[in-house]
Amino acid sequence: MTQEELTYSASTQNARSILPADMISVEEACERILAQFAPLDAAPTPLLEARGQVLAEEIRAGFSIPPLDNTAMDGYAVRAADTEGATYDSPLNLSVSGYLAAGSVFDGEVGPGEAVRIMTGAPIPAGADAIVPFEETDEQDEDHVATPWDQSPRESVRIDVEARPAANVRRAGEDIREGDAVLAAGTVLGPAQIGVLASLGLGAVQAIRRPRVTILSTGDELLRPGQPLEPGKIYDSNTFSLASLVESYGAVARTLDIATDTVEALTARIHEGLADADLIVTSAGVSRGDFDVVKDVLEREGEIGFWTVRMKPGKPLAFGTFPASDGRTIPHLGLPGNPVSAMMTMELFGRAAIFTMLGKGATWERPTVRATAADRIRNTDGRRFYARAFVELVDGKYIARLTGPQGSGVLTSMSLANGYAICPEDVDAIEPGEQCDVMLVDREAPLPEPGALIDGGGELSDESDIAVTLQADGKRVDVWGFPTEMIGRSVLAMVELLKGVGVPKSVQINIRRRSNDD
Ligand code: AMP
Ligand code: MG
Repeated sequence: MTQEELTYSASTQNARSILPADMISVEEACERILAQFAPLDAAPTPLLEARGQVLAEEIRAGFSIPPLDNTAMDGYAVRAADTEGATYDSPLNLSVSGYLAAGSVFDGEVGPGEAVRIMTGAPIPAGADAIVPFEETDEQDEDHVATPWDQSPRESVRIDVEARPAANVRRAGEDIREGDAVLAAGTVLGPAQIGVLASLGLGAVQAIRRPRVTILSTGDELLRPGQPLEPGKIYDSNTFSLASLVESYGAVARTLDIATDTVEALTARIHEGLADADLIVTSAGVSRGDFDVVKDVLEREGEIGFWTVRMKPGKPLAFGTFPASDGRTIPHLGLPGNPVSAMMTMELFGRAAIFTMLGKGATWERPTVRATAADRIRNTDGRRFYARAFVELVDGKYIARLTGPQGSGVLTSMSLANGYAICPEDVDAIEPGEQCDVMLVDREAPLPEPGALIDGGGELSDESDIAVTLQADGKRVDVWGFPTEMIGRSVLAMVELLKGVGVPKSVQINIRRRSNDD
């Protein structure tokens, strides 16, 4: 019996199966597979376990963040009006009326002429409206770390720079306002979203649960890694590469022992694998000319279609369903046995199925860039060729190099790749220097183009982490904000500016970190 006959007889025996005898496109295979999948149900999920999962509820803020106005700097809480006119040449003094660490609320009030020593994050005491950072007081040279307040209380503080109202104050609700819709249902929970949930005090959220995927390798030639190598045998790499891919997509992989090529062994393993599974993935036994028991068992136990997909590697593919003992119908993805083909079909079809179950919609599609091929990418037989490539950004352009021999058994071609360069079905070859699409994979992503330097100077912007105050003859000439890396240029800018002011008797340049927003 030929492959075509076998496929045909299976399709006529089983009307629900979708069993074309001819090749189908990658897109069609994907569409048919995805028709069997939907997002799974939601479950309460502890925050740290939810990373990569999809939020199944809307999150609203029960309170504002920060809850109270608080200080962005270590320093002194003052009435801004009390600091008017303070300069390095003619500073003024305020009496210190208290101390406040982050985590406490000051129960008194900052009266006229008074200051409260305050640490970053502590709520602004009543009466105060600005923070003078240590760097603008006589504490600028002191070692704050080793000087607990209760051991060396101060009676007064020298203020060297006048404070604007609201200087260094972080406003209540600056981040989140009470009642705000903070995260929408459907949001993928990454590290930042999980941080936001924690900042709202939530220990667990409703998230779409992770699919459970059973992985089964089949073949008499296979040995588990760790066993001694025997003549004629190879190690089972598919179980490990496929389980790792499955876990990297956000599903939970369960691996079974290798099934030998007997009807009994394979049947038993498949039934074992169905329990508790949302998807069962097998590898091997689906290729043309492979008339072993795998196909027989798959057909007898489930409703399986054997497809020929117009792609390389990965032409033979089986897809269908198995009835589980609890009445559920479990989708089955039968991947080819060759290690690269198994991984590539998992990348294209398994990933799409798992992302769909995770509720991530079409985000399974990998980002694709246009790259210049450094090597010839040859299409041997009119199938879409996914060549394993390493993509690099050179002078702002992507260059794709093949990672060595491209045989379906050459697994190192995968391990060296950070992209799949695509030679379309109707193109014989992409020649060196020609453009091609490269699907980027998560491994060692190429570095982004170096961003243009932020131009500093003129005003304090959000990018400025260094503030430079220039005073000539006791008068403030200007204040600039600079990103740290621009400090050299800032000094040059000041020299230019001073030329315009004339030659002062004294020049004071005060450079400080702007805030503790580190
Ligand atoms: P098959 O589809 O059974 O004809 O397998 C195709 C090729 O893939 C053969 O060379 C197998 O030895 C190889 N192969 C099958 N399963 C695995 C596996 N789990 N790990 C590594 N190679 C495999
Ligand atoms: Mg085999």
